[in-house]
Amino acid sequence: MSVALFGGTFNPVHFGHLRIATELAELLQVDSIRMMPCAFPPHRGEPEVSGEQRLEMLQLAIGRETTLDTEDIELQRPAPSYSIDTVRLIREQIGDQTPLFLCIGMDALNSLDSWHDWQRISQYCHIIVSSRPSFSIPQTGYLADWITLHRCDDLTTLKQSAQGKIYFCELTMLAISSTSIRNKVSNGENICYLTPESVVDYIQHHHLYE
Ligand code: ATP
Repeated sequence: MSVALFGGTFNPVHFGHLRIATELAELLQVDSIRMMPCAFPPHRGEPEVSGEQRLEMLQLAIGRETTLDTEDIELQRPAPSYSIDTVRLIREQIGDQTPLFLCIGMDALNSLDSWHDWQRISQYCHIIVSSRPSFSIPQTGYLADWITLHRCDDLTTLKQSAQGKIYFCELTMLAISSTSIRNKVSNGENICYLTPESVVDYIQHHHLYE
């Protein structure tokens, strides 16, 4: 049994997130990927839509899909949502032996060294990095050295330990972003087929992003 976390703002969730999460579940062979909205992104300012609403949209998007799940741990504690606190708390819940994966995009990896207490994150979990267009693995500086030290290119080996490694994977990137969905809504444009119908309905019903 392993646990995988996929954090984001999910403002709102879209098919790009859902596709990546599904592929991560398959790749990592976990029972489910826990999609985890952050309460207050330290780097991005507070989103105008509440954490509860972003969580509700995630739940609607996931529906009865059993490989995806939600994790509201970051909404339960006061801001800001530091990943180090999240992985430490989840580690306490699951014990020492269970592999824990924190899944992030290459965009996030490039600023990992600005995250609170970033070097200790791998004491609690593995970091799984999915490629993003226009971002590559940092090649110079302290972060690059840290990556070289912790990198593991073999998933079987990585899963033999509960934490401590970084792994890179290429997954399907759909050209969708939450920003483009918010912009479309505010311009009165159609957002069908960018996010599940249930989320489209929720956004309309609650007049979000107008
Ligand atoms: P925004 O447009 O508001 O910046 P976003 O669409 O990038 O949002 P986030 O909630 O910030 O969505 O993303 C959460 C995670 O999902 C990040 O790790 C990000 O790299 C990844 N991600 C976002 N969009 C896609 C996509 N289209 N394909 C693959 N991964 C994505």
